[in-house]
Amino acid sequence: MSLEAMVSERGAVLLGNSVACDAFDEGRPLRIVTHAHADHLVGLKQSLRQCEKVLMTAATRDLIEVMNGSLGLADGNVETLEYGETLQYGDERITLVKAEHILGAAQVLVEATSGGRVAYTGDFRLDGTPVLDCDTLVVEATYGNPSCRRPFKMGVKELLVSMVEKKLRDGAVYVFGFHGKLQEVMQILHDADVSVPFVMPERVFHVSQVCERHGMQLGCLTLSTEKEGRTLLDENLPCVAFYHMNSRGHVGLSNPRVCVSGWEFRSPCRQIGAKEHLIALSDHSDFDDLIEYVRRSKPKRVITDNYRVSHGETLAKEINKRLGIHAVAMPKKTAHWETLV
Ligand SMILES: [Zn+2]
Repeated sequence: MSLEAMVSERGAVLLGNSVACDAFDEGRPLRIVTHAHADHLVGLKQSLRQCEKVLMTAATRDLIEVMNGSLGLADGNVETLEYGETLQYGDERITLVKAEHILGAAQVLVEATSGGRVAYTGDFRLDGTPVLDCDTLVVEATYGNPSCRRPFKMGVKELLVSMVEKKLRDGAVYVFGFHGKLQEVMQILHDADVSVPFVMPERVFHVSQVCERHGMQLGCLTLSTEKEGRTLLDENLPCVAFYHMNSRGHVGLSNPRVCVSGWEFRSPCRQIGAKEHLIALSDHSDFDDLIEYVRRSKPKRVITDNYRVSHGETLAKEINKRLGIHAVAMPKKTAHWETLV
């Protein structure tokens, strides 16, 4: 018997009979948080109060605690599941599967004892994400438009490293990005033996510490509010300063700067200011990789997440056209629109 799946008007991805992912839903006893980005924490306070269990990976729990401490995870019935671990609930089995996105990100698979399988990708980058085999697939649609293609995926990391190394000759280099992406940049630079200190404000520092606790290696982390970090920045000594994208207009204005963003399809590296470059480093699949995931997954039916981005309708049409698989966008009218990078 096939299991149901849909995306509610409030952005909850409903799988089978019991699970609501990434937003609160009144009728569902189980809430799953696929990862720590804010548009996947919709109604989490309500879920913590009302759901029987709130499920996520341990890394996602730790990230939410430092990024959104006010949500009060400790007050709710949070249970952590590791990748591949299964929870039996009634006649359904729930499994979290790795998604390559930010630390702790998971796909969700729900299987009925009678044999039906439904899955939700959450946000993902195809490279490093296992493709789930299922009857109904709910897929993210961030770059679900054919104009969102990055034909230059290879070599972006090398370009980032050489750009930072070049800019370090002029002193402190400022890197701007979102939580998760900043830590990916630290890891890339650390792996490439860029051994200058990494300086950052408190929030970025705490997120980075969680990443290190869960196995990422990020280099020499220094707080910008402490003497050593302050001196490095004030005296423009060779270091890399990591700041959230929101600080881009306030700090490091006269320094060499690098922004990392997925919303760039023309070139892997583009100059956007006198001393500023944009590097196209994305933690989402581009259009071709979304189609490729669906092709490999071979579902009978696809639902595109039309709540979090504007490309759900387009992606559904393209899946119908290119793969001959029945696909619909849900919810029908975009109830909420948010640009993600
Ligand atoms: Zn995300």
